[in-house]
Amino acid sequence: MKLVSDLDVKGKKVLVRVDFNVPLKDGVIRDDNRMVQALPTIKELLDKGAAVILMSHLGKISYKKTPEEIEEAKKKNNMVFLVNHLQELLPKNDVSFCPDTRGEKLAYFVDMLKPGEVLLVQNTRYEKGEEKNDSVLSQEWASIADAFVMDAFGSAHRAHASTYGVPEAMKAEGKPVAVGFLVEKEVENLTRCVEVKPEDRPYVAILGGFKVSDKIKVIDSLLKKCDKILIGGAMAYTFKKALGYTVGTSPVESDQLDYAKKCFEEAKGRILLPVDSVVTNGFEGWTEKKVVGQDIPEGYEGMDIGPETAKIYASEIAKSKMVFWNGPMGVFEQSDFAVGTIEICKAIAELKGAFTVIGGGDSAAAVAQFGYKDEFSHVSTGGGASLEMIENDGHLPGIDIIRG
Ligand code: ADP
Ligand code: MG
Repeated sequence: MKLVSDLDVKGKKVLVRVDFNVPLKDGVIRDDNRMVQALPTIKELLDKGAAVILMSHLGKISYKKTPEEIEEAKKKNNMVFLVNHLQELLPKNDVSFCPDTRGEKLAYFVDMLKPGEVLLVQNTRYEKGEEKNDSVLSQEWASIADAFVMDAFGSAHRAHASTYGVPEAMKAEGKPVAVGFLVEKEVENLTRCVEVKPEDRPYVAILGGFKVSDKIKVIDSLLKKCDKILIGGAMAYTFKKALGYTVGTSPVESDQLDYAKKCFEEAKGRILLPVDSVVTNGFEGWTEKKVVGQDIPEGYEGMDIGPETAKIYASEIAKSKMVFWNGPMGVFEQSDFAVGTIEICKAIAELKGAFTVIGGGDSAAAVAQFGYKDEFSHVSTGGGASLEMIENDGHLPGIDIIRG
């Protein structure tokens, strides 16, 4: 796979697909991490004398809505909100903004762009054809640059025009395509979790979060690779119910009970489930909180793993050489139920010399919020993309198209 540093880009125009899908509120950037993570690739190209065209999506724009609603969504997700901040992040280079996503205006802005300058193009999702991987759109975008760099790891699981159609078209035209430093780092770290080396064992996976159905493919993939899987979060209760325990009013996916039972049996003791839980009498407006053992009484709901479970999981983590974690252990957004997730963070922080990775949007947010981000070998910037990487044995469409 070609890397951005392998490209000869002096005097060339390079189109870089970045993931600038930052959390925005009323036009204010809440967290610029995604922009910051793209800087090494952008700077490499600028330092080598390229003119850099940046494309990204921002937010969601549904074309099934009324014309007024579509206009509203476009206004809310206007990329112009990002330009001033990008200029601050790149103080030595001129940053400009093209308000159009295609046509004469885009061609003009690209034409005017000089080496060492950056052009941010309007939200790719302003085009209906973006998510459809429209070939005419892809060809137009491919025609504006001499080379393509994929550095939008968070969007690499989507075969859209800007992530798939464009590199495909550029390759067909004989133009060079490569991945950026962020994608390189993500691929390297997540591949280690799916192509397991003997020295990385024991390999422990920690899975939590809300739904079993969201994570079936991840569970299946990890079961083939891991020595132990520690399950927490809401999805633990589907497993517990499938095994005949009472779960009170805990969230259970009835249509996943057979899967959970089969999965647990086939794992032959390699799947660990909570032996105790923090429960409340209801999800919202609860008045009573307590710790219960294997069974959850009628009228109570599991909100977090209990202290005994946290201890058992911590001891499994302490014995491991590699950890992959996805999904919080409880309703971590409320401090009453963040303890289980924090205990797992602590166990990982105490683990020395092991390779530890966390992926998933909420999971990464949780470890950052609790101050444990730096304790991990790698915190993936991709939510869905990091999970699909694990599910698909290290393959994502937006990266495979560069590889192939
Ligand atoms: P990620 O985004 O990291 O893949 P998920 O989206 O699968 O993680 O799960 C995160 C969500 O799961 C959080 O909003 C959290 O509150 C919820 N959750 C975890 N445990 C429970 C529980 N016991 N009951 C209800 N929700 C839970
Ligand atoms: Mg999530």
